[in-house]
Amino acid sequence: MDYNRLADLLFPNITTTPEDMEARYPRRELKEGAVVTRFAPSPTGFVHFGGLFPSTVGERMAHLSDGVFFLRIEDTDAKREVPGAAEGLIKTLARYGVNFDEGAILGEDGKICDKGAYGPYKQSQRKEIYQTFAKALVKEGKAYPAFTTEEELDRLNSINKKEEIKNTNWEEEAEAKRAEMLEGRKITLEEVEAHLKENHPFVLRILADGDGERKIKVTDLVKGTLELPENDEDFVLLKSDGIPTYHFAHAVDDHLMGTTHVIRGEEWLPSLPKHLQLFRYLGFKLPKFMHISQIMKLDENGNKKKLSKRDMGANMDDYTGMGYTPEAVCEYVMTLLNSNYEEWHMQNPDKHYKEFPFSAKKMSVSGCLFDYDKLNDVSKNVLSRMSAEDITAKVTEWAKEFDEEFGKLLERDKDYATKIFAIGRGGKKPRKDLATLADAKGYMGFFYDELYKVEEEYPDSFDKTDIKKTLSDFMETYDEGDDMNTWFEKVKAIADGLGYASDMKAYKADPESFKGNVADISMFIRLAVTGKTNAPDLYTVMQIMGKDRVFDRINKMLAVL
Ligand code: GLU
Repeated sequence: MDYNRLADLLFPNITTTPEDMEARYPRRELKEGAVVTRFAPSPTGFVHFGGLFPSTVGERMAHLSDGVFFLRIEDTDAKREVPGAAEGLIKTLARYGVNFDEGAILGEDGKICDKGAYGPYKQSQRKEIYQTFAKALVKEGKAYPAFTTEEELDRLNSINKKEEIKNTNWEEEAEAKRAEMLEGRKITLEEVEAHLKENHPFVLRILADGDGERKIKVTDLVKGTLELPENDEDFVLLKSDGIPTYHFAHAVDDHLMGTTHVIRGEEWLPSLPKHLQLFRYLGFKLPKFMHISQIMKLDENGNKKKLSKRDMGANMDDYTGMGYTPEAVCEYVMTLLNSNYEEWHMQNPDKHYKEFPFSAKKMSVSGCLFDYDKLNDVSKNVLSRMSAEDITAKVTEWAKEFDEEFGKLLERDKDYATKIFAIGRGGKKPRKDLATLADAKGYMGFFYDELYKVEEEYPDSFDKTDIKKTLSDFMETYDEGDDMNTWFEKVKAIADGLGYASDMKAYKADPESFKGNVADISMFIRLAVTGKTNAPDLYTVMQIMGKDRVFDRINKMLAVL
């Protein structure tokens, strides 16, 4: 077979050569050890939690090594493309600290444009590049066309894939495919010419030289050394519209763009033999591979299963509405990615997670478990470390978008809100009342008359007259100018007067001789003032609320008791 002739017949318009491409995209000059990597999403929807994972790894590895992190848009499947998805994806990733140095970026007009010398960064714009390498493979006898008719193609496209999968006898199917493949390899120049004359579409297949019975060793930076079967499948390089498959585009792009580390989901691991074959055929240096484990969750029966797109918490944009700050989500991701992150963070509580010496070696080989309790824990810490001003601003901003009524109240008097958020903040052991920004309303809404409501009832075990007497005695003696000690002495005096123990030790030694203790007396007041039995320090609460509001609430309670 005259392969040169075949290549010209198949790609008459391609006049460029692989050498031209190498010249167009020279090797990068970077310092030793610099990691060049990319995130390469298909713009088919929102950013999934499972996508934040590999992208965070890529971002960390590139930036910790003074390397380059770029974004490539893998839009070779036009049917699955969702308009605006790429733009949304860039914004979402940026919110979670995943910033790109190069690649597809958002221009001033809000549209995607290219930044960097290795573009275009959208695969749909790189047809000529792929075809240049495809043509070269044909010239070397490493790829061949497989023709079909338009009608056959239409028939194939109209098959209901789900039905087909259900009804397929896989062994027979594989056998038939293999036979077809071997038959296809025998195509002659005359046949090719005849097909082209009829305008029959073709796909370009690789001519596999592997033996499925033989194993090849390959090292993955996460999974370790693996033994995989050689590729013996003549897989498709170019589809009938001349657009490459993932495999071919991956090899060509990652080579020309100077990727040193291919970081991607582990679902690509089974295709690795195909990629190894392609890199070898194309004469490309092999990059390092890192296949990142999937995120799992526990289902109702306690079994691990993949976090699916429909699961709560899968869509990164949902976290904003739920009131998780990006900082919290990012720290949580770090705890999942590197087992030693938490220890480091405990030793360096004031450092940003980006200062953590992230290491591929510390990554989990099997799947990580997505766990809301853990996320809430991390988030509580993050929110508790913020200054009163910061948390006030964050909650206000959140509420303005997701809870307008609450947002307006917070904005009405910023000082008042900041004082409330300052309760228990700033010390070595700050209060951890909020897991999310959305929790703020439940926690401190009672400070606002519009949101105050009595949520609990006084336990029946207490005498109503004691409660009433407590409330009226309290109003009689309350002086806003009192310091905390004086205030508490007055509460204790009320306890003593009613036969409740003011001294907890005495109470514990002989509970039978008291009606209750000073904590119960405080609770009587607390429930009236805050509407709940559980609230931040009551003295401070009253100082912030001011006497009028405190008395107003106590009077209202007295009226209904
Ligand atoms: N477009 C592929 C995906 O979304 C990219 C995989 C890769 O990073 O190479 O899974």
